[in-house]
Amino acid sequence: MKPTLTLYNTLTRRKEEFQTIHPNRVGMYVCGPTVYGDPHLGHTRPAITFDLLFRYLQAEGYKVRYVRNITDVGHLEHDADEGEDKIAKKARLEQLEPMEVAHYYTERYHKYMDMMGVLSPSIEPHASGHIMEQIDFVQRILDAGFAYESNGSVYFDVEKYNAVHHYGCLSGRNLDDIVTDTRTLDGQSDKQHSYDFALWKKASPEHIMRWRSPWSDGFPGWHMECSAMSTKYLGEQFDIHGGGMDLMFPHHECEIAQSTAALGHDSARYWVHNNMITINGKKMGKSYNNFITLEQMFNGEHEALEQAYSPMTVRFFILQAHYRSTLDFSNDALKAAEKGLDRLMKGIEALSKSKPAATSSFNAAELAERCEAAMADDLNSPMVISALFDYVKIFNSLADGSHTATAEDLETLKATVNRWVFDILGLKDEKAATAGGGKDLVTPLVEMLLNMRLEAKAAKNWALSDQIRDQLTAIGIRVKDRKDGFDWEIE
Ligand code: ZN
Repeated sequence: MKPTLTLYNTLTRRKEEFQTIHPNRVGMYVCGPTVYGDPHLGHTRPAITFDLLFRYLQAEGYKVRYVRNITDVGHLEHDADEGEDKIAKKARLEQLEPMEVAHYYTERYHKYMDMMGVLSPSIEPHASGHIMEQIDFVQRILDAGFAYESNGSVYFDVEKYNAVHHYGCLSGRNLDDIVTDTRTLDGQSDKQHSYDFALWKKASPEHIMRWRSPWSDGFPGWHMECSAMSTKYLGEQFDIHGGGMDLMFPHHECEIAQSTAALGHDSARYWVHNNMITINGKKMGKSYNNFITLEQMFNGEHEALEQAYSPMTVRFFILQAHYRSTLDFSNDALKAAEKGLDRLMKGIEALSKSKPAATSSFNAAELAERCEAAMADDLNSPMVISALFDYVKIFNSLADGSHTATAEDLETLKATVNRWVFDILGLKDEKAATAGGGKDLVTPLVEMLLNMRLEAKAAKNWALSDQIRDQLTAIGIRVKDRKDGFDWEIE
């Protein structure tokens, strides 16, 4: 019997048994990137964490509607209600139309996510394409009495909301803590309280990205897009809401308040947050100026990098840590991930070349059981990987006969590896994949040559046999002779 999936729900602060609202269907919403800069290492963790969950749920037979948004309007420089729109600022500096900036970086995001094996979500809505839905949502909050209009802008009335519901339930704060944390108003503000947040902002004359609304020509507050778009595509209640831990406050806290004010209840059943990638213990991000773009990761051109790291090395590096733990960037850790991934792929190759025996010397079914149990326990990918490594040792010893497996067990193991390594962890054998645009041409070609060499040896044509071996060595393929044939590897 399959173990039951438990997920850590940030809202209740405990692991909960995962139960879907509709049988066999999952609605999942994840906050995507604000597209004003090149995708960097900090973007990879939420993308890969929720890709893992998406892949796993699908492999378990769920029909998943995965919505991941693109923020292309309303994300202001100070993450609140102040400052210039991040995309508009970039557009101004580069003399572009804001949508040119958004389009360019959306394409870059897709390109790099694709390289890292991150599947495209089911729907990828853009905030700027859902202004009407956002205006409707703001109106619902106004109608419910939890917002007020002030000089063409609309603000969420935190105090009024907090009298009925708990503002701060997700991040575990109380209004008192929030009051101390927020700056006092400078007298210029249209807000009643410093902790109130904008649902709609009236645009200043120089603000380019603006839309007509019942209140003013303006633009939606940043938090509004996720409430409006998740409701549009997943309904008023859906299963999972995900994102990085840095979004818990204020972004997700405000989303919960908006949904609860408009709909009478929170939209998401499970709130799932991935922890951050740090560099020397500090959060990595554009605003911290310590970020490494994925382009730099893959070409090695950044002062913090001792070498280039492949997309699968970065993916494996992330999967080797549990998504709720911090993950500190270092060259040593990445190099270890590179070695580990190589070892895993070589083990899988050894398995694929293994010959069946009459009996098995180990329990082949246990690998799948261990992977299932680890993943069902709040997506414990490091435990999945550790189970795989235990079996890599066995796969390697199948070649020298210190372990044996029946034909049936070999098939079981190959299916287990396909499911866990390739389908769910989403890893690829990059060495094989580089040859023929994803199609492994190297293996059949090398084996064809080595089989010709066996024929040459059988015919005692030593000159041809040596020539084949020497020329393969010259292009970096090491050949090892065995009693029953040959082995080879790329150096
Ligand atoms: Zn969001």
